[in-house]
Amino acid sequence: NIVHDRIDYVFKVVVLGDSAVGKTQILSRFVKNEFYFDSKSTIGVEFQTKTVTINDKVIKAQIWDTAGQERYRAVTSAYYRGALGAMLVYDITKRQSFDHVARWVEELRTHADSSIVIMLIGNKGDLVDKRIVTTEDALEFAQDQNLFFSETSALSGENVESAFITLLQEINRVV
Ligand code: GDP
Ligand code: MG
Repeated sequence: NIVHDRIDYVFKVVVLGDSAVGKTQILSRFVKNEFYFDSKSTIGVEFQTKTVTINDKVIKAQIWDTAGQERYRAVTSAYYRGALGAMLVYDITKRQSFDHVARWVEELRTHADSSIVIMLIGNKGDLVDKRIVTTEDALEFAQDQNLFFSETSALSGENVESAFITLLQEINRVV
């Protein structure tokens, strides 16, 4: 564990997307490098933090997880307040979770700061045989909507850290 003697910035990041796409697991993979097979729906802790160094700046990422509020329009505007970045997650094996991404983008455009950096995440990349949403379709949507895009697996850990680091780098570039 690296000890940081100073914090240059605190960046609030919100995690969004339909229920069961793996939001909480992506977060625990990034923050604690852990994965829970029997994860319950999120209760309790509002956010977790992880401190990283980007371009000589010590950045504390304060990452907020929805507490089972993933129903359409149930996430309150307080959740978005002050957020500089968003991880918008769908499940590559669930078409509906990808179809709903447009709604989540609309929510962000309505409630969050207009300069918020958004990373679209296609999670559960380890379930190759069950893939429904193609990389090409997601990439096209992301480019169209000006979102960054990555496919991850919270289970294997693939691309989880790089997705967060890319998001934090991009926030750092614009603050
Ligand atoms: P949330 O409702 O979006 O927070 O979803 P969770 O993080 O609670 O995950 C929902 C379910 O999907 C749990 O059973 C997880 O173990 C599983 N899950 C999450 N991420 C992955 C992944 O990358 N691969 C696989 N195979 N399962 C995952
Ligand atoms: Mg959750």
